[in-house]
Order: sequence, then structure tokens, then C-alpha cells
Amino acid sequence: MPADSSVNFSVLHRICKLVVLLCFLHIAVTVVFYVRSLDFRVAFVQNQQSNNITPKSQNNKPVVSPGLEPAKEEKVLEQPVKKLEKCPETSPLLVGPLRVEFNIPVSLELVKKENPNVQPGGRFKPKDCEALQKVAIIIPFRNREEHLKYWLYYLHPILQRQQLDYGIYVINQDGDETFNRAKLLNIGYAEALKEYDYNCFVFSDVDLIPMDDRNTYKCFSQPRHLSVSMDKFGFRLPYNQYFGGVSSLSKEQYLKINGFPNNYWGWGGEDDDIYNRVASKGMSISRPTGEIGKCRMIRHNRDKMNDPNPQRFNRIAHTRETMYKDGINSLKYQVLSIQKLDLFTTITVDVGKP
Ligand code: BGC
Repeated sequence: MPADSSVNFSVLHRICKLVVLLCFLHIAVTVVFYVRSLDFRVAFVQNQQSNNITPKSQNNKPVVSPGLEPAKEEKVLEQPVKKLEKCPETSPLLVGPLRVEFNIPVSLELVKKENPNVQPGGRFKPKDCEALQKVAIIIPFRNREEHLKYWLYYLHPILQRQQLDYGIYVINQDGDETFNRAKLLNIGYAEALKEYDYNCFVFSDVDLIPMDDRNTYKCFSQPRHLSVSMDKFGFRLPYNQYFGGVSSLSKEQYLKINGFPNNYWGWGGEDDDIYNRVASKGMSISRPTGEIGKCRMIRHNRDKMNDPNPQRFNRIAHTRETMYKDGINSLKYQVLSIQKLDLFTTITVDVGKP
């Protein structure tokens, strides 16, 4: 082979090697750029997708499409407790004179249906305003289920219209011993206070129904007599000092007189003793007018073991001496059961015997 042809071949060989090298370099650079652009595209798509899950509104708050709400957060957002305004002095819901009769049969189911806002235990408070008083209504009781139904039927709607924060306590004397009304009232006071911070106490016989809802079952600056014109007495007071039937005392007024006597067994006299206590403490009796204070009594025969108490005249004559040692400060009894029913709380008690 001639010498310059071998030189040419060598040059050509080198050029070819260079071209091949350049090609590899080109491919390598292309691959690097391609791979880098691929990374960038994947990142872009991921970013787009994450933005689509919770698209942002203009104010940068997440916009939630209907039906795609994220699972509710565990933490319940606390609503600020709205402070209610006080209820007015005179309720705007009152209607005035009412028809009260006892010839229609009533059942507890009916009363419950007609008073859906009454809470277990016979509790209620207005929802649109803050009641002016917390009133415990105490009913001394034994074997008068029929009367209680009428009482609940008429009183629950009235008390709700009066915008009271109230609870009904039926204090049921256990056994067949002589009835003791005033002691049952003391027990009602003590038991109701264990449950709620009542500041007013209405003491009502189970057979007395007001005939006008303007006769508000609340407390006044003086102890209140509410059943001032009963049909049984020809719609007038039987005597000026009469304090029986339905009365109300604030907690302070009640404590000022050391509550009620515990030793009036049988019918009569205990309400006169309470009147004496009130008068001896320089308080007077406040009353609604005869028109507003009208009420009906459910007729009934005298209860067994509630005969007139022959000792009552003697006891009434000594109230001023006995009232400091006989009252809420000397009350002794035993609770046998407490039942929170739909329309009232019934507390059955052993009051002992004479
Ligand atoms: C009794 C009272 C009774 C009043 C009205 C009085 O003689 O002592 O307890 O409420 O008569 O019946």
C-alpha cells in the first residue's frame, strides 16, 4: 500500500471517530434535557391536581363543591351563648279570664301532648327571654290522682303564658297516718332547693284552679295570697286573715318566718299559723283583686285520716312562742322515692306520725 493512501485512511478514521463521539455527545445532551423537562411536567400536573381538590375562592378560602364536602372536623365550633333579655314585668301572652270546668275527662297523655315544651320533672322556662323568677310549685298530696290531672291540665299552659322558670313538685305522704299539709310543704321547699336555685315558692292545694291567668304564680315584695276568691266561699275571702289554698313566699320571706309548722296533724289551722308567723315578722299579705283572684275548687269528700284537728285553736294561739323552734330548722323526714315524670316530679315521703 502506498504511504499517502495509508495517511488518508488514518485521517478519515479519526474524523469518523470524532463524528461518532459528537453524535454520542449530542444524544447524551438531548437525553439529559428530555429527562429534566419530564420532571418539570410531572411536578406541574401534580400541582394542578392538588389545587383542584380544594379550589380557592377569590378571598383565598377553600370553595367546596356541593356533595364533596371534606369530612367534618371533630371539634364542634362553640356558638357564643346568647344572653337573653329579661322577660317583661307583665307577660304579653296572658289572655285574662278562663273557663274552668271539671266535667270533661282529662288524661296525662292529653296534657303531655298539649304541653310539648314542658321538660321531664314538670320543668319549664321561656325560650325567648330570661324569666324574672325561678318558681318551685309545691303540692301536698295523697290519693288525689284525678285532681292532679285537672291541676296539670289547667296550670301548665297558664304558667307557661306567665313566662315563669318553674318546676312542679308533688309531695306525696306515704302510708295511712294522719295527713300533715304544712310539713309536706316544708319538705317540698327543702327538696326543690336540692335540685335548682329557686327563689320563689308557690304552695298550692291540688284541687284549686285559678280562673284568670293574670293571677301570676310568682312572689311579691310581701307574702302573697293567690286564692282570694274561691267559688267554695262565694268568691270572697272567708275572713281577712285567711291564708289557705294557694300562697307564695320568696326564699327570704320563707326563711324569715322559719318556714311552716311541722306539728299540725289533720285538717285546719296550719294556714292560720303561717299567717301569724308572717304578721309577727311585720310583713303584710299581698293579694290580687277579687276579680283576678277568682278560682274554682274541685268538689270532693273529706279525705280519710284528715279529720279536723282539735288542737288547732290552742296551737294557733301560741304561734309567736313556738315558731322559732318548730319550722324548717326542726324538719325531719325520710324520702322514700323521687320520680321525675313527664309533667311533674313526685317525691314520696315518710313524715312520721303525731
Ligand atoms: C281553718 C283553716 C281553713 C279555714 C277555711 C279555718 O277555720 O283553721 O285551716 O283554711 O277555716 O276553711
